Amino acid sequence: MEFDKGLLIVLSGPSGVGKGTVCAALRNFMPELVYSVSATTRNKREGEREGINYFFKTKDEFEQMIEQDQLLEWAEYVDNYYGTPRGFVEATIDQGKDIILEIEVQGALQVKQKFPHGIFIFLAPPDLEELRNRIVGRGTETEETINNRMDVAKEEIELMDNYNYVVVNDQVAHACESIRAIVTAEHLKKERQ
Ligand code: 5GP
Repeated sequence: MEFDKGLLIVLSGPSGVGKGTVCAALRNFMPELVYSVSATTRNKREGEREGINYFFKTKDEFEQMIEQDQLLEWAEYVDNYYGTPRGFVEATIDQGKDIILEIEVQGALQVKQKFPHGIFIFLAPPDLEELRNRIVGRGTETEETINNRMDVAKEEIELMDNYNYVVVNDQVAHACESIRAIVTAEHLKKERQ
């Protein structure tokens, strides 16, 4: 990675592991990071806002973004599309700022193809039972969706080896501290190159 460019940081891991919660806490903990806002075709949940949590798109709009090569990566996940707008990510790192993407595992693998020098962090659950409790506890999903998400999560955990770092999300504050330590270490590494 070029010296004057920012770091591209990917935070991934199974749905329900707490990526969203950790990322929200990181906004306070690491305000110097830029946070990528994804596009999705899924329905807006209560309290979510356009352009803050996601850019909410119709299927047609999303497919147009794919055709026009506007997405750095995209994935179909539990019957919906999710993707990272490319222009914002590239402009941010070109400006020398660090950006973090909170995305699922298939998308993270696509980013790795394009940015092999990115920093890939896998957020792991302490155990699978805990993961199911978190998905159920969110109270927004049907039984079928919960089971689908658990199946995807088990497959995703097997992909851990593709990452530079694994952070266990036992407590949000611990995870944030670990991520900050990783980013600090990566900056030191970059300066020595
Ligand atoms: P949720 O519907 O719970 O907000 O997100 C479902 C999954 O999609 C989560 O694992 C989340 O990290 C992932 N996700 C969110 N945005 C993106 C994106 O832009 N690309 C990909 N590949 N996954 C995303």
